[in-house]
Amino acid sequence: MIVFRSDDGHAAMVRLEPGTDLLDGLNAAAADLGIEAGTVQIVGAVRRLVVAYYDQETLEYLPFHRYDEGMEISGGVGNVSLKDSKPIVHIHVTGANRAGEAFAGHLMTGTEVFMIEAYFRAFGGPAPVREHDETVGLPVWH
Ligand code: ZN
Repeated sequence: MIVFRSDDGHAAMVRLEPGTDLLDGLNAAAADLGIEAGTVQIVGAVRRLVVAYYDQETLEYLPFHRYDEGMEISGGVGNVSLKDSKPIVHIHVTGANRAGEAFAGHLMTGTEVFMIEAYFRAFGGPAPVREHDETVGLPVWH
């Protein structure tokens, strides 16, 4: 990955290399940057997109949506917080195929980077910590 840090050290622009797993790459970038809390946004393209939809009735992710084609990442908005004492990226993305059809969801591992530009911004306060929540069924901020 290629990193450009802001002068004040609180933000960075990062390019992920082709072939990188997108979610793993974002998690590695957050860890390398020392960001335990903050925001992340991405733009670029992927060779394969894997996203998930969370069923609010069963409190489970439905079988993942996997798109085995090149897609433009037209938007990705997420955050960084702590889970099991490690920075973890939670991000939702929208990908568009060559027909201009868009697909979106919770980013899962398995998404292969073609070219991704990410922007991280560190939050200057205590990091939210993810812990399992019975009502939501997910590790959320407490
Ligand atoms: Zn999500």
